[in-house]
Amino acid sequence: MQLTAADDGEALGVSSRRARERLVERLRQMGVTHPDVLEAIGRLPRHFFVDEALASRAYDDSALPIGWGQTISQPYMVARMTEILLAGVRRERVLEIGTGSGFHTAVLASLVRRVYSIERIADLKERAERRLRALKLRNVRLRHADGAEGWPEYAPFDAILVTAAPPRVPRVLANQLACGGCMVTPIGTAPDQSLLRLVRTRTGWRHEALEPVSFVPFLEGTC
Ligand code: SAH
Repeated sequence: MQLTAADDGEALGVSSRRARERLVERLRQMGVTHPDVLEAIGRLPRHFFVDEALASRAYDDSALPIGWGQTISQPYMVARMTEILLAGVRRERVLEIGTGSGFHTAVLASLVRRVYSIERIADLKERAERRLRALKLRNVRLRHADGAEGWPEYAPFDAILVTAAPPRVPRVLANQLACGGCMVTPIGTAPDQSLLRLVRTRTGWRHEALEPVSFVPFLEGTC
């Protein structure tokens, strides 16, 4: 893979900078307001995170296939989840379950001090690692494992982002949240999935169901 942070996508036959600006404008119109989130999405080369054949669609607001039956999340969903996740939490230590392409990981790495991200498919984890390294995002640690176990060595986390839908909140993950920390996860089986925001309080957890969503399932084990 030949990636450089300086690649501005001209080779794609599109001006990726202008395409990014248009995407950010669209996200704004859809209600995303967090300036740091918009700035990060406007700066990151999403075309690095998809196969070359799909690069011309990288700045559309849509999910795209990344192999192994998985998808890179829709930019609106990346922006919306990040905005919800970071509202009111310390931006120190964030755990992501479902690295996938690594794009959401890169957005988080632009906004917080340290990102820990777990992916169950070895090939996706390795490709994401190469992309993040090429972009010189060094505050990220990736792990090939089943995310249901979380990452106890680095817990507690200020925020936990889950990008595949489990049937219910994984208790182990909820327990790895710091007090005041926030988890954002899709919950349920398609077509009945919704986004859930869970906040750890001094006495337990408070949760709130947000909008309906459509994510790939949270699966057990590794491959
Ligand atoms: N944020 C990613 C989303 C990828 S799709 C992106 O935008 O590219 C969700 C990812 O979660 C897939 O790569 C899938 O393999 C992974 N996943 C599903 N269940 C998992 C589990 N139990 N542990 C770790 N990763 C998991």
